[in-house]
Amino acid sequence: MALIVQKFGGTSVGSTERIKNVAKRVARWRAQGHDIIVVPSAMSGETNRLIGLAREIAAEPDLRELDVIASTGEQVTIGLLALAMHAEGLKAKSYTGAQVRVLTDSTFSKARILQIDDARIRADLEQGFVVVVAGFQGADADGNITTLGRGGSDTSAVALAAALGADECQIYTDVDGVYTTDPRVVPEARKLDTITFEEMLEMASLGSKVLQIRSVEFAGKYKVKLRVLSSFEDEGEGTLITVEEDKRMEQPIISGIAFSRDEAKLTVLGVPDRPGIAYQILGPVADANIDIDMIIQNVGRDGTTDFSFTVNRADYNKTLGVLETVKGHIGAREIVGDKHICKVSAVGVGMRSHPGVASSMFRALAEEGINLKMISTSEIKISVVIDEKYLELAVRTLHKTFDLDKAE
Ligand code: ADP
Ligand code: ASP
Ligand code: MG
Repeated sequence: MALIVQKFGGTSVGSTERIKNVAKRVARWRAQGHDIIVVPSAMSGETNRLIGLAREIAAEPDLRELDVIASTGEQVTIGLLALAMHAEGLKAKSYTGAQVRVLTDSTFSKARILQIDDARIRADLEQGFVVVVAGFQGADADGNITTLGRGGSDTSAVALAAALGADECQIYTDVDGVYTTDPRVVPEARKLDTITFEEMLEMASLGSKVLQIRSVEFAGKYKVKLRVLSSFEDEGEGTLITVEEDKRMEQPIISGIAFSRDEAKLTVLGVPDRPGIAYQILGPVADANIDIDMIIQNVGRDGTTDFSFTVNRADYNKTLGVLETVKGHIGAREIVGDKHICKVSAVGVGMRSHPGVASSMFRALAEEGINLKMISTSEIKISVVIDEKYLELAVRTLHKTFDLDKAE
């Protein structure tokens, strides 16, 4: 008998029919004697609909109120799931994040979980209840409702698994595991039986939305056994995220290709080339709570230089606003931006021991006539920023270049 946390994504609870199927699946696990905590997302499309309603009233909604609105999607699915479980003859009880006390900080719309009060859940489990906890949400120390950022139910599930010392955290979704790249873009993508935390962290942070990055961080930190599985199939082991590196002789150099469409680039032209300039530009951007990704500063000429960086596309207008104020202070010439870019990355721990990955990548993209606008590398990844219209072509090309379509 084990304690298992099972998270079901939006598509998996997308209709009452599917919610009934989830209840049936949970009933099978219960019949085997396992204790189960279920963490659903909102029904697919619902969180977008709720945020859309808020934006009909305010273009830049107050984030505290936005969280009050966005968190309701999950409140509906927990109740529906509990009802569906009752219909299966199970004892089940639902809780919102605030009720269980998923304590978070007060960063509305991207709050971090600080602590989870497990007493209530443990008591219910002991009495034979399936405990259904709303994903994506918590409450801060003052009782304000918070949400954990898009895709945050993954993190709720892993955090609950960590807090309760669960034997496994199962992420049920609309694909049967983690693939070498998004199977919706490359049909030849292969399912991986295992992937290391390190690689999964990179894949998630570089845009593979199959797991929210914080859920992977959490699982790594608290040693949670994390598995991605299909909610539509009954067979299959899915993908296990492992601490161990693949010890086989023929370790693949590249494990996967990640991409992100949510990118935008901003360039400050004609910046005086003197100490402190990067801080003067990026300090106010960071103060506005905008995450900065890649940064490039050109070689100075005639005492000035150009400074480029990328941000999430949703933060583009806000960043432009910040830079317009900065421009006057530092005496820059002009601000230009490009919203039609994307980022494509090759990820693999095998890269450490194999030089030449970058050159293979750049050659393959050059042969397709794809221009690289920015490049960034780490020990286990290479990322390029390109025109968004080349995204699919670039991902397919790299998937092939690194033989990811070939069976191991
Ligand atoms: P859920 O609603 O269940 O949380 P998501 O849409 O957040 O589901 O995540 C699952 C989706 O992630 C898949 O449908 C797939 O299109 C996408 N995805 C992106 N990269 C990958 C990858 N490397 N492996 C599997 N799925 C991926
Ligand atoms: N419903 C939330 C979202 O759409 C959280 C999640 O699905 O994980 O982002
Ligand atoms: Mg998700």
